[in-house]
Amino acid sequence: MQGKRSIIVSNRMPVTFRSQEGRAGVEMVKSSGGLVTALAPVHSHSDSLWVGYLGQQTGIDSEVAQSLHENRFVAVDVPEELYSKYYNGLANGAIWPLFHYFPSFAEFSREAWAAYRKVNQLFCDKVCEIVEEGDVVWVQDYQLMLLPQMLRERQPNLRVGYFHHIPFPASEVLRILPWCSEVLSGLLGADLVGFHTLEYARHFVSSVSRLLGLDSRGEDVMCSDRVVKVGAFPLGVDTGAIRAAESDPQHVSKLKELKESFKDKKLILGVDRLDYTKGIKERLVAFQHFLAKHPEFCQNTVFIQLCVPSRVDVLPYGDLRDEVEWLVGRINGEYGSPTHTPVQYLFQSISFPELTALYRHADVCLVTPLRDGLNLVCKEYVASKRDSDGVLVLSEFAGAAEEMGEALVVNPFNVNSVVSALERSLRMTSFEKSDRMHGLKRRVEEFNNQQWVESFFEMMDEAHDKNAQSNARELKSFELEKVKQRLQQADRVLVCYDYDTSVMGRREGKWSYLSPGEHTLPMLTQIASLPQVEVALVSRLSRARLDPQFPEPGFTLLAENGALFRRANSQEWESGLRDVDLTMVQAEVDRILQRCVRRVPRSTLDVQETSMIWEFERANSVFAHNLALQTSSALNEMLSNTSFQCVMGRHHLEVRPVQATKLRGVMEFCRMQEFGPHDVLMTIADGKREDDLFRAFPEQNIPINLGSLRSDSQLMVRGNMHLHNILKELFALEKQEAQGL
Ligand code: UDP
Repeated sequence: MQGKRSIIVSNRMPVTFRSQEGRAGVEMVKSSGGLVTALAPVHSHSDSLWVGYLGQQTGIDSEVAQSLHENRFVAVDVPEELYSKYYNGLANGAIWPLFHYFPSFAEFSREAWAAYRKVNQLFCDKVCEIVEEGDVVWVQDYQLMLLPQMLRERQPNLRVGYFHHIPFPASEVLRILPWCSEVLSGLLGADLVGFHTLEYARHFVSSVSRLLGLDSRGEDVMCSDRVVKVGAFPLGVDTGAIRAAESDPQHVSKLKELKESFKDKKLILGVDRLDYTKGIKERLVAFQHFLAKHPEFCQNTVFIQLCVPSRVDVLPYGDLRDEVEWLVGRINGEYGSPTHTPVQYLFQSISFPELTALYRHADVCLVTPLRDGLNLVCKEYVASKRDSDGVLVLSEFAGAAEEMGEALVVNPFNVNSVVSALERSLRMTSFEKSDRMHGLKRRVEEFNNQQWVESFFEMMDEAHDKNAQSNARELKSFELEKVKQRLQQADRVLVCYDYDTSVMGRREGKWSYLSPGEHTLPMLTQIASLPQVEVALVSRLSRARLDPQFPEPGFTLLAENGALFRRANSQEWESGLRDVDLTMVQAEVDRILQRCVRRVPRSTLDVQETSMIWEFERANSVFAHNLALQTSSALNEMLSNTSFQCVMGRHHLEVRPVQATKLRGVMEFCRMQEFGPHDVLMTIADGKREDDLFRAFPEQNIPINLGSLRSDSQLMVRGNMHLHNILKELFALEKQEAQGL
């Protein structure tokens, strides 16, 4: 972080309004949920800027504006109605329930989605207004998932990180969201996408591969121009703030009050925003069962449930409050007495020093969300314990469960599991309690929020620098100059273009594989017309498919991986291979591949002269891909004693003669052209899938890689437009055009 300014971007700006000595102003909120609690120290102790929405409660007069400026807050102006559609409608009405595995609560409105896009755009405009060279932009959470890509488009070299504070669901759930591709593409604008757990990170990577078809390597996603790093960074708590709260008078008096009030009683504590994901109803039901099963605890156990009001404008939340309060009344009615109230329910927010006093005094902390991105309450509880005497009961569906192995881990949907854990914690020996709490405390203290920030920034810098280096490699003009010189010094230049190369690019806001651009082919014709230049286009496709696309191309066509060729300006096809007879294997291969066609909808079989191709580009990629893997190994076994082989591509499976390779085709083309020691070969292909071509005459070859593989020996090209510009530059095409060529 040294040397650069960080710009934190979150939906809400964490400030409250105050009036001091008659002067209006703002100050940072003390505590208001995980994200702010975690990032507040970053903002307080550095020269960061915090960009966010300020709310509608007040117009910004000059005093407030001055105070915002002094405290390094930058407000994004969003009209109230638009904000409500974005925040209540899409962020909390669709994404929140879906990502927490409550699809039935999700409502998908196109109007809300348009508002979500618009508000992300307003945030982007604001960040672009203030960002300076070298700044780091750190985007927070699910309300701003389109922002990283919006920023990347406006400022390609910007350092951008994104952190996702809620669960990231499996692709099967994510794909319910009508705009899931846009959301994934939006996140891929970041250098680093961070999650609380490895499981969420894996869900993201597999969604990107299943829903966008992008490749990944471990936890990295390969985009055409960059590698997007994906990682797990479980948020930690501000242990310093917890220690500081202990000496606050509010803490001291609250602790005293608790000790007196609950002298002879065991205290069970629940602390949550009132949210259906937190499992509050289920927890109350479990407590009710516990009292029914263990009457011996009825009079000496109190369960304090603190519910912080939340999202009162979103539908399910209002009903939830009624249901929780009804349950509390019911348990107290059934198990209470004039001198004892088993459930004490608070619907309010309390100060942090008071909260830490509650944590300190509670014998058990019951954290049983049905699904939670991480859950900070469980970590705060552990960090607040001075004497290692409490017990943490934790849901297996909280992200924090991955790290909190010493807790009593329960399934909140299973009442018996929670009831037994409650009984076990209330009867647990001091030794076991201390043993478990000790292990938890050590981890919570070491991996605190400071460590979280540092590890995120470290990886983000690393990811950004790597991308910047390889971009620099691609774009360095002196390198292009060197290639240009090689071309100029050569007697002749042969250019071989792999027509099956598909380039990753963005169309209508989504990542996908794009076919060679409409300008590439006319450009090849133009290059082929230059003196001392010969061009060949090589493809796995048949002549029947290439002929209509290239009636008079002015360059050589190599069909079926070079098994057939048509010289420039000729209409005749010639055979490039001898003794190839597909009929030897055709019947058997046909039987197997036809079965694949019947099984995979929207897939086709193309029987060519020397090869057969099963194509499944438009099919469900995962199913087709798995079937292709199985079929490929079965076919290769079957073909082992023949002159044919089976080869698998990104979206096809091909049975072809062993000799029919693009490398051989290109070598043959060079031989026909009497390729000499002072000639240069330029091969253009997707280096990730089809790097065959690059192996021809390596000493005289200039490989132009259209894929995302990083290699020092190749010239990387980012998509069709970039290729066009490079070819234009290398072959001085504009000058040729100007001279009427
Ligand atoms: N919290 C608060 N006021 C309260 C009670 C709790 O600000 O009256 C804080 C608590 O300290 C914790 C946060 O709310 O940091 C809850 O974070 P968690 O990750 O558990 O859940 P989230 O609300 O983010 O879903």
